[in-house]
Amino acid sequence: MNLVDVTRLSNGPITDLISWLQREKLIANPLRCLPCNRGMVLAERDANHVDGYLWRCTVCRQRNLSCEGSFFAEFPRVPLGKLVLLIYLWSLHELCSKSADMVGLTRNTVGNVFAMLRYLCKRDLQSRPITPFGGRVFVVKCDESQFKHKSKYERGQRARDDVWVFGVISTEYSPCRG
Ligand SMILES: [Zn+2]
Repeated sequence: MNLVDVTRLSNGPITDLISWLQREKLIANPLRCLPCNRGMVLAERDANHVDGYLWRCTVCRQRNLSCEGSFFAEFPRVPLGKLVLLIYLWSLHELCSKSADMVGLTRNTVGNVFAMLRYLCKRDLQSRPITPFGGRVFVVKCDESQFKHKSKYERGQRARDDVWVFGVISTEYSPCRG
């Protein structure tokens, strides 16, 4: 997905955005009403509300946010489309202040959204650690290096952030794999 696609999605009809988030398994489809153990239905709500839709249980009439139980529910006052744009900008390492200007939110709000994204990635890495090598005993060599090259003849753009590169090779295979 590029910026054109993300912008079109975030500015398009809210129903298209909700369907897309459901297809990507980012929000419930459908949300289940726990007391009744039944799928809830998406119903239109006050048009002034940020996302315009909510889940309603047809039995007990309980209501929930359309994004209940997801990352998006952490920010109920930020429109879904803006949150999708922020996820895209965050994935590109865009600065908090620039992102805030681009989507028309306060730096504080964007800072909270970015902090939540970092937290969720950290939690995911902790719960599903990457174990590229395991099992039998082999020699594994690890090293890291900071890429901060000076540009040649002062041309071109320098990287905004220092780039750390981490490499691992294993003698499990021949030739070694890294
Ligand atoms: Zn119910």
